[in-house]
Amino acid sequence: MIERTLVLIKPDGIKRGLVGKITSAFEDCGLKIVGMKLVSPSPEKVQEHYNADENWLRSVGEKSIKSAKERNEAINEDPIEIGKRIRSYLINYLANNPVIAMVLEGNNAIEIVRKIIGSTQPSKADPSTIRGKYSSDSYDLADSNKRAVRNLVHASEDKASAEREIKVWFNESELIQYSRSDEKEMYG
Ligand code: ADP
Ligand code: MG
Repeated sequence: MIERTLVLIKPDGIKRGLVGKITSAFEDCGLKIVGMKLVSPSPEKVQEHYNADENWLRSVGEKSIKSAKERNEAINEDPIEIGKRIRSYLINYLANNPVIAMVLEGNNAIEIVRKIIGSTQPSKADPSTIRGKYSSDSYDLADSNKRAVRNLVHASEDKASAEREIKVWFNESELIQYSRSDEKEMYG
């Protein structure tokens, strides 16, 4: 199924000069850029993007607790509270910093983009993925420096969040319809 997904190149990706390499990884897989802009988002915009959805706060907190357990660190904090703290780190990371927002379109775009970027923690991400190839950051380093994991990119996790997140960053008129010259080869 042809679908659309939202990708952000986070400030570390831009400041480290990785915009071309990151974008190429998506284009090389056949994904079409249908929207793209460089922005310096307000804290409110980042809060709207990382909205305080309770399930997401809990899942971020639980992932963090699981990783701490693997390092033999005991954590008694409520996962939602951990999720809220990480959300505030994310606002510091992205707000008033350069961010590229893009909408990518293609077959199973949401899942394919998540596969290309790799898992959240770059130190554990497969080395063939964007996060695994261009970063070595980890939860413990980020936590000890009281900041978000610098993992270069954000990508929507599922259809509902893709639809919501695209609207946070783009008006319908900013999304451009056109054909890539290889579409017939890929999809015909
Ligand atoms: P993903 O970006 O892979 O979808 P999540 O939605 O779980 O990951 O988390 C959103 C972002 O929050 C991550 O990309 C990362 O930048 C940051 N983050 C997640 N967990 C932690 C953590 N334990 N410590 C610091 N930052 C984190
Ligand atoms: Mg996520």
